[in-house]
This record gives sequence, C-alpha cells and structure tokens, in this order.
Amino acid sequence: MAVRSSEGPSRSWVESANAAGCDFPIRNLPYGVFRRAGEALRCGVAIGDFVLDLAALEDAGLINAGAHGPVFRERSINAFMALGPKAWAVVRAQLMSLLAEGGDGRLREDVVLCGGVLFPLAEAELMLPIEVAGYTDFYAGRQHAFNVGSMFRGAENALPPNWLHIPIGYNGRASTVVVSGTDIHRPLGQRKPPDSDMPVFGPSRRLDFELELGSVIGTGGRMGEPVTVGQADEMIFGYVLLNDWSARDIQAWEYQPLGPFQAKAFATSISPWVVTKAALEPFRVSTPQREKPLLPYLRETGPLLYDIDLEVSLRPAGAAQATIVSRTNYRHMYYSAAQQLAHHAVSGCRMDCGDLLGSGTISGPGKGEYGSLLELAWGGKEPITLDTGETRSFLEDGDVVALTGGAQGEGYRIGFGACTGRILPAPPEPDWGS
Ligand code: CA
Repeated sequence: MAVRSSEGPSRSWVESANAAGCDFPIRNLPYGVFRRAGEALRCGVAIGDFVLDLAALEDAGLINAGAHGPVFRERSINAFMALGPKAWAVVRAQLMSLLAEGGDGRLREDVVLCGGVLFPLAEAELMLPIEVAGYTDFYAGRQHAFNVGSMFRGAENALPPNWLHIPIGYNGRASTVVVSGTDIHRPLGQRKPPDSDMPVFGPSRRLDFELELGSVIGTGGRMGEPVTVGQADEMIFGYVLLNDWSARDIQAWEYQPLGPFQAKAFATSISPWVVTKAALEPFRVSTPQREKPLLPYLRETGPLLYDIDLEVSLRPAGAAQATIVSRTNYRHMYYSAAQQLAHHAVSGCRMDCGDLLGSGTISGPGKGEYGSLLELAWGGKEPITLDTGETRSFLEDGDVVALTGGAQGEGYRIGFGACTGRILPAPPEPDWGS
C-alpha cells in the first residue's frame, strides 16, 4: 500500500469515524441529502455511522458558506456547489474543526445541539444528492472499448479511429438518474435477433450493469466559452459511484450511427454521497501512457485520475450472500473527468452546476477486472458462476447489483458507500392496438 498523507486531522470525537475500514472518516466528509421520518429534506455530510445535519449547523451559526442566505436547507447540494471552490474549502475546514478530536468544542461540548444535528445513518433516508442538470456518459476506458468493440465489430476494428484522440461520449437522460436503492424495471424495446429479418419487441433479454464513476460539476461555464483541462478540474466538485444500466440487445440494434439511446435512457443509478475532490486529493494519479499524442486542448496538466479501488457484487433473489464479480480501479481510465469536461465545453457547449459526467465503464486489464457482465461473460459465451452455483450471462429479475469503492490511505479509507439497484420485471405492456 502506498503511503499517503492528507491535509487535516486524522481522528474525530465521533468514535465510529475512526474505525478501521470506515468509509466516512473525518478526512472524507462527503455531501448528500437526507430526511428523517416526517421531516423535510436537507443537506448533510456522512461522518462514521452518522449523518451531520448541515442545515441545523448553519442555523446554529457553526458553519457559514459565505452566501447571502442559508444554502443547506435545500433538496440538493447544488446551491452550495454553485458557490465555488473557495466556499467548498471554507466549509470543509469549518466541519473538520468542529469534528476533530481536540478541535473546536462548540459542537462536541453541546450535548443538546449534538442530539439535534447528529443522526444515525440507519435513521436517515438518503436522497438523490444533486439536482442533475444534464447527464453525459463517456466511453473512456480503453480495455472496455476494446472488449466491446471486439464483440460488436471484431478485434481488428475494436477501437474506432477517433478513440485515441477524443473522449467519446453521448448525451444521456438526466430525468432517469436515480439514487442508490431505487428498483430498476427491465426495459422494453426493439431488438433484432441475428437470424431474423425483422426486429422484435419486448423486455430486454440482455440487461447489464456498467461500473462507472460519475463526476459532479460544481461551477458552470458560459455558452461559447471553452475551458482548459486545468479549469475543468477546478469546476468539478466531486465524484459518485455510477451504474449505467444497459440493455445490450436494444443497444446492438439501435446504436449506429448516433450511439446509445433507449438502451441506456431507462435508468442510471448513483451513490447518495458525493465524495469531494478535496478528500481525494492525496490519491491523484496520472492517466496511462498516451498511445497517440493528444491535441493541446486535451493534454493533462498534472495527475487528474485517482487511485480508487472498485468492486461489483451480484446477489440473486433469495440468496443470502452476494458474489463479488469484479474488482478493478479507476486509475485504468484513458481519459480523466477533467479531460472529458474540457472536451465537452470546447465547442461552446455550456456546462452547468449539477451536470453529471459518467466516466465510461471501468475495466482493468484482467478478466476479473471487467466492469460489465457483457465483458465478464464475453457476450454470453462464457457465463460466470455465482457463489450460489447459479450462472449469469446477463441480469435476471430479482438480481441486486452493488457497486462499492474507496481510496485506501495509510490507516484510513475515503469510501464512497454503495450504489445498489434491484432488477424488477418489465412493466406490463399497454394495449398497442393493431
Ligand atoms: Ca456507460
């Protein structure tokens, strides 16, 4: 394990935050939105086994983001994100001071206030943390692009000619980005069996997950004004786990020439906690060696990826335990989120607070490191076996997919929590007429 150092205190008086392997130590402080039974939504941060109510802390005058009014009694963290990097740093420092062992005692020593702002995570309903302005998904993992390209077009044509020059992406749907724990209906759509002249309609038979990291844009830009890769990195507030659910049979039929459409539009799940760029700072790594030089507007200005271990598990309906089906790392991506954002804005496309950019499926070089079932079971040719003895080429109704991840420091972990979703049967079909 690499030795890491991080700014800020290492221990909190919230004891559970100091436990080995805890996802939410004091150096993390990820932002989310929650509510308790019968209460209104508000913003919080996760610390140990607790959620800290930022709206109440703001009311009590213990944190101040420097805005004209309160920003945390909100249904999303967008109002806070829009304040920009200076406010992000100020509030992070205030929170660290309030939560550190031996720090500012105004919260720790006020038992009544503590009882009113620190709630067990188990009592909190976690909501979608951001109001998603737009959702764009990329295709920036080289191994994934090679694997999928090999299956769809053959190994010699696997990478499209633009791939090593452009972070390829498509505009997805913000309307169906949902928070972890939301059930996902198997989508209906058109697919064309290889032995048939005509397409058929019905529930997808090749439903899949895609392991991705989502970058969350905090500060937007202006229409007509490109941004540099360095500026793009400053615009990013943080990262979430992202499952880009994919219907492979619908995708294979519809994707040419404009890319994925209904195969991806039905649902995208994200984890409830946005892990800040500040918390991930000690884990920065460079993108892999370039195979072709990038045009200047896309060149890396410093290490822009992160060393984040990722895992996917699958639990069939009724199974007591989930099977880990993939282990990989975010550092394998060919393009960073900052490069994707710079490319996105270069034409003059305005980027907004709350925009969500999917990294693209994260597949490492080894077979157990692939980030989708399509790759793990190689298009259905090599089904994987679960701990229950069942096999899978694609997802079955009742399957629960869980993404987890974290950056491992010396004696602490910057965890992402989990991004889960359960597959429900396709919805009943309306009477289409004849
Ligand atoms: Ca994807």
